[in-house]
Amino acid sequence: MATPNPAYEFMKTVCEAIQTIEQEYASYLFAKYIKPTVAPEAIEEHKSKYMNTLFIKNKPMSADSHLQMELDEITRANADYAADPKAFPSKKTDHGYPDEFRCNFIKQDRSYLKRCQSKTVDDEFYCTQHMNTPNKLLREYEKAVNELSSV
Ligand SMILES: [Zn+2]
Repeated sequence: MATPNPAYEFMKTVCEAIQTIEQEYASYLFAKYIKPTVAPEAIEEHKSKYMNTLFIKNKPMSADSHLQMELDEITRANADYAADPKAFPSKKTDHGYPDEFRCNFIKQDRSYLKRCQSKTVDDEFYCTQHMNTPNKLLREYEKAVNELSSV
């Protein structure tokens, strides 16, 4: 087991304290402003919805959610580009590069896999950085994409 890093342990304690204050303040705001406006039997349901909306960012996202977000972005990029290719002389849309111009290299980012966001070199599958790098995670990524789309 790794030796605990005192700076990390300290930050963790501080962050937990801040989260506790955030939660308490959110509860207070709920009790003061929202609770009086909802029927007593619906209070619990409203409270969990409200707290989930506020604190969703604090929850770690699953690898599937990351992948789904990435696929959604690429789908949007594809649609925007297909609708008006001339509007994107650099090929990059507001949602990044569409499939055909996006590097196919797969990276490991913490616990999930993601596709490189750079532009491919003309007529190649990869960007300049990944042109000669073995794409070791491609099969694993394709498997994750297939599993996700079969749900
Ligand atoms: Zn790349």
